[in-house]
Amino acid sequence: MKRKIAIVLIFCVMLLITGCSDNSSEPKKSSTDFFAMDTYMNITAYGENAKQAISQAQKQIKHLDSLWSVTDKNSEIYAVNHSNGKATAVSEETAELLTFSLKMAERTKGDLDPTIYPVLNAWGFTTEKYRIPTESEIKKLLKKVDYKKVSLSEKSVQLKPEMMIDFGAVGKGYASDISAEILRDNGVSSALLDLGGNIKTIGSKPDGSEWRLGVRNPKGKGNIGVLSVSDLAVVTSGNYERYFTGKDGKTYGHIIDPATGQPVENGLLSVTIIAKDGKLCDALSTSLFVMGLDKAIDHWRQYKDFDMILITDDEKIYLTNGIKDKFSVEKDINIEVNVITDI
Ligand code: ADP
Ligand code: MG
Repeated sequence: MKRKIAIVLIFCVMLLITGCSDNSSEPKKSSTDFFAMDTYMNITAYGENAKQAISQAQKQIKHLDSLWSVTDKNSEIYAVNHSNGKATAVSEETAELLTFSLKMAERTKGDLDPTIYPVLNAWGFTTEKYRIPTESEIKKLLKKVDYKKVSLSEKSVQLKPEMMIDFGAVGKGYASDISAEILRDNGVSSALLDLGGNIKTIGSKPDGSEWRLGVRNPKGKGNIGVLSVSDLAVVTSGNYERYFTGKDGKTYGHIIDPATGQPVENGLLSVTIIAKDGKLCDALSTSLFVMGLDKAIDHWRQYKDFDMILITDDEKIYLTNGIKDKFSVEKDINIEVNVITDI
């Protein structure tokens, strides 16, 4: 009898051990690359449902892309932009992102302006037919730029004639939030979403360690440093990826200062924003890039609902207190690092 109990016990222990070793092995990994919103995207997720969750998220991103494309004649934004001053019905998603964009435009005093599109278009950034518009052309186009003139009621949008909106600065961040929600609803607790450099992480890596994300060196090749995060979004804006070189030999980037209609040139090379909310990171990365170093620091001190890493063209890094222990500069990079604290 005793022997029988002993055998049963050994069997139970064996079950426990094998059970344990099963749990400690890495959960199933699924990864998908695709092109949407004019950029390359990758979603990598772990767990039993990961594969179908990714395909659901990918479908949703393509759907959002089809709503917000400025060039696709069937998109909602295209209809709004060609409505000639008439009210146009839009989906819940479009209304939600426009509400958020207008709120952020208010918060950043117009440094983020979803109605910048006519100016952006004149520089050729949407068509890749790049050119330098004249001062008088820009002056004229700037009259059509003013987020305060957008009226949004329930689910309908009305612009003044010739005004146009563009979600280029916020769409990928919003899409990363929606996609992460889809993954979580499918039971995924560990994932990395990279929507064209708009990163969103769910949980930590399957082994429990934090995700290590490279922060691009805006002047050279490779990374300037590495950021360790879990359960956060990380979004970078800079003028080093989408730009053109004009006939005058100067380079012009795709982020426009709505106050001047000119591509931003203020000594900042890149702005990386770190926070829970992807769309907040996306909106702030673009608008703090417009603000420049001093105003960006003031903005952080006023709101403190995010962390940031700013890189300047005089080769300095400025990062906020909350992220300083999570960021390390690459060994072969020699750069001054300044920590931004409360005053
Ligand atoms: P990326 O799209 O490369 O990730 P951003 O999030 O910074 O970079 O968005 C830049 C895009 O936002 C531009 O390509 C343009 O569509 C739009 N944009 C440019 N300047 C502004 C601005 N001041 N306010 C709002 N949108 C802008
Ligand atoms: Mg942005």
